[in-house]
Amino acid sequence: MAQSLANSVFEEDKQFIAPLYGKANIEFVRGEGSYLFDKNGKKYLDFVAGIAVNALGHQNAAIKKAVEEQMDSFFHISNLYPNYPQVNLAKALLAATGFDKAFFCNSGTEANEGCIKFARKYFDRKGEKNRQKIVTFINSFHGRTFAALSATGQPAIREGFGSMPGDFVHVPWNDVAALKAEVNNDTCAIMLESLAAEGGVMTVSDEMVAAINSLKKEFGCLVIVDEVQAGMGRLGTFLGLQKHGIDADLVSLAKALGGGLPLGAVLLRQKVADQLKAGDHGTTFGGNPVACAVGLAVVNQIAKPEFLANVEARSAQLKAGLEAIAAKFPAVKGVRGEGLILGLALDETLPVGNVIAAARDEGMMVLSAKGNVLRLLPPLNVSAAECDEALTKLDAAFAAATK
Ligand SMILES: *Cc1c(COP(=O)(O)O)cnc(C)c1O
Repeated sequence: MAQSLANSVFEEDKQFIAPLYGKANIEFVRGEGSYLFDKNGKKYLDFVAGIAVNALGHQNAAIKKAVEEQMDSFFHISNLYPNYPQVNLAKALLAATGFDKAFFCNSGTEANEGCIKFARKYFDRKGEKNRQKIVTFINSFHGRTFAALSATGQPAIREGFGSMPGDFVHVPWNDVAALKAEVNNDTCAIMLESLAAEGGVMTVSDEMVAAINSLKKEFGCLVIVDEVQAGMGRLGTFLGLQKHGIDADLVSLAKALGGGLPLGAVLLRQKVADQLKAGDHGTTFGGNPVACAVGLAVVNQIAKPEFLANVEARSAQLKAGLEAIAAKFPAVKGVRGEGLILGLALDETLPVGNVIAAARDEGMMVLSAKGNVLRLLPPLNVSAAECDEALTKLDAAFAAATK
């Protein structure tokens, strides 16, 4: 057995954990609300939120209560037996979204695999076996398992993994003409994020939404919306597609849904659910009762109009402050995003990593997106005072990084 010779978590991580991430040289020991604390007692404003997972911040009281209550009955019983944690969460999700059925899994990539499999099975059962093709977008991100990876429009992260599931094509984001050229009577589905988050915090255009909705009518294909990052209130509506009026048949959710526990979901229209049968798809852990109990606590908070109103108000506050930063520092090309996925596009003179490091020195955690974009993902219950603090810290970080 390997023996640790190291005494810090950084060295032991290198020794024992597979080298798949570029990790920060920082050891967090506690989170509370919108803040994280490191081993030296330094306090950080957390605008990463576990990559859009901790929508209610750290140590949320309703989440803790839900975990404790469910732990007193059972942790896991399998999907062979109906149970109220799943049913109650499904009812809350369907009420908040207008969808008809829910399928639970463990992660975002699994939710997207589910969407893709259900879309293909839908047409297969209807006898339209020609409908295989799934049209997605360049720079999209749908996950790391094979079909979700094949859907992801980033060749660099597919490289070296051999053959991919076929019949995925990628067109440029918001390019209506390119989309129209690819959709026809062999199309199974158009698949998109309601905001392309990893790809550079790129908002969907009204023209593209109109094109998707009309292509769906014209050719009878399905529409899959990946709401893994932009759903669950992050755009200021419960689902991003509600804000943009995207006519979806299948929706994937994960990240914020489990309040920090692994939980994903697919929401289905009745016509798709009607083509599925027992045994078509499954998962051992999907819909874990503890995760679902937490999910209900999360959905109950996020679905409240006053909660979503706070997302919009904090978004406006942050955007105004980010516009001021963009005006002050020439290396900032512009402000991107909506709701509480916001970005600052930087020019080539200022690598985003330098700003992330400077922000960390100021006591603030932020992350990047593709194309030298600084990405902000605060908890959705962030306060006005915390947003003011964030803007002050970012201003100082830009001053330090461009000095
Ligand atoms: C994070 C993410 C995924 C993948 O989710 P995992 O839980 O990491 O599998 C898929 N789609 C989008 C839009 C995401 O942001």
